[in-house]
Amino acid sequence: GELAAAIQTLARDLEHLKNERNDFLANIAHELRTPLTYIKGYADIASRSSLTSKDREHYLNIIKEESEQLTMLVKNLFALAKMDQNQFSILPEQVKLCDSLDKVINRLHPVFEEKEVGLELECPEEVEGWVDPERFQQVILNLLDNALKHSTAGGTIHVSSNQKEGRAVVKVRDEGSGIPSEELPFIFDRLYRVDKSRSRASGGSGLGLAIVKEIIRLHGGQISVESSLGNGTTFIIDLPGGENND
Ligand code: ADP
Repeated sequence: GELAAAIQTLARDLEHLKNERNDFLANIAHELRTPLTYIKGYADIASRSSLTSKDREHYLNIIKEESEQLTMLVKNLFALAKMDQNQFSILPEQVKLCDSLDKVINRLHPVFEEKEVGLELECPEEVEGWVDPERFQQVILNLLDNALKHSTAGGTIHVSSNQKEGRAVVKVRDEGSGIPSEELPFIFDRLYRVDKSRSRASGGSGLGLAIVKEIIRLHGGQISVESSLGNGTTFIIDLPGGENND
């Protein structure tokens, strides 16, 4: 009886996995087809002899942007595939998180200034994490990019970090649009987007947070989210604190 029940559970799990895989493949096909359709359409228009050179340049630019988006999508899909096969290398070391956060923030300052969004860092000098410096920066860059995308002029994004019970905790809080509570459980899923059309127009493919989550998981950490519609969103990352903090 127990064996029969176990086999039934296994069969159900396999079926579930198969369905998930099919959904994922269908989503990828859709994600690839959309930019390709645009590229083909705009290439047709750009090749019309009646077009002024200014209009032609405009359409060629769209083609370029769509191709870049496509390249990024494929790159991200490859990164996730590598993570699934445990071929994505993480080289953790003892890192002063404030220095690392400072670097990312400095890189982004011009973009924030242009959008008139403030960016504040609160981080005691001594906070350390056991992280791959490049991957850590990739994660923060991604979260800040999202925070900026969903903020309006006059808002501020707060980044903070502290040491807690031998762990390092990093928070990225924005005062932006927030995420509806019914969408929250899905935002880390691959290819999941809250606002499907707008997100695509701004270059999003719904892979950013899936990659962030995987990178954090590979570090032995966790990421969670709190959000209130209209008030903003906070991402909380918990990471190993490093050798001096065990
Ligand atoms: P994308 O590349 O489309 O932005 P992500 O995986 O980074 O995809 O994010 C998934 C979804 O979560 C996005 O569609 C976006 O709507 C939502 N989201 C992520 N970060 C924020 C944020 N800080 N504020 C509001 N919504 C967010």
